[in-house]
Amino acid sequence: MPSPAILSDIGNVLVAFDFKVAARRAAELCPFPPEQLFTRLDSIKLPYENGDMDDVTFVREAMRLLEFGGDEVMFRRIWCEIFTENQAMERTLAAFAGRLPMFLLSNTSGMHKDYLLGTFDIFRHFQGGVYSYSAKCSKPDAVIFEKTVSELGLVPEQTFYIDDLEANIATARRLGFQTHLYRLEEHDALERDLAMWTGRVLSS
Ligand SMILES: [Mg+2]
Repeated sequence: MPSPAILSDIGNVLVAFDFKVAARRAAELCPFPPEQLFTRLDSIKLPYENGDMDDVTFVREAMRLLEFGGDEVMFRRIWCEIFTENQAMERTLAAFAGRLPMFLLSNTSGMHKDYLLGTFDIFRHFQGGVYSYSAKCSKPDAVIFEKTVSELGLVPEQTFYIDDLEANIATARRLGFQTHLYRLEEHDALERDLAMWTGRVLSS
């Protein structure tokens, strides 16, 4: 019998993030204003998240494009220190720990994934995950969801998928997942949906 599971996005679900924090800090070490920094990285951000560029190459290229005056350690720290743990979500997931397997599905880079999992307690609830940089594909394409299903042994109909982006939710729903479009400011709505779903799957 396949067991029910929770599958979750990371950004703006488990942790909030704000790239503007990084832009302001990096701008102190660059000749460009904060609002220009991320458009200067447009050409390398997507290949990096899709796994076509490794961490070392990305950091070197980003530092070159930004004319960054600090060293690589400083750049990595600024690039990663943009996240805040979602405390409400941490409490919600803690209640299901040990009762339901939990997995991650995120469009992210190796650098952010390693930083996140090593920094925030909320990730201790998760037994594994699929990430765009290593899967070499990204949401909202169905391909990464199909990979996730086969790699993690999930059954979409038995899996509760949480994401803050409608396009990702649309793909998941089409593939048969139980879905919840998450809003940080409407955490109660998730609690209600999750309680209803777990009431059903954990009692059957
Ligand atoms: Mg997200």
